[in-house]
Amino acid sequence: MNVPREIATDTVDRVLTLRWPDRREQRIAHAELRRACACAECRRIRLDGHVVGASPDVALIDMHMMGYGVQLIFSDGHARGIYPWRYLEQMGLM
Ligand SMILES: [Zn+2]
Repeated sequence: MNVPREIATDTVDRVLTLRWPDRREQRIAHAELRRACACAECRRIRLDGHVVGASPDVALIDMHMMGYGVQLIFSDGHARGIYPWRYLEQMGLM
């Protein structure tokens, strides 16, 4: 399992930066993370062919390391998504 060496959030630009062991740096907008929320509820919405509603202004306000990934807490009150490292790593590639 690839685990980032460093994870940092920029509250001004609203971007999450992940630095991977191979030195690759990945930047993901907070709104993009919110739309890609990994919780069961948001997965269901996408499976049904809908888009998860996320304001472009939504911000990541807290995060909790979970070992296999990270729980992301958003400014719209949504905090259910635990994003596995593998899921995050693939986000920029989709
Ligand atoms: Zn969700």
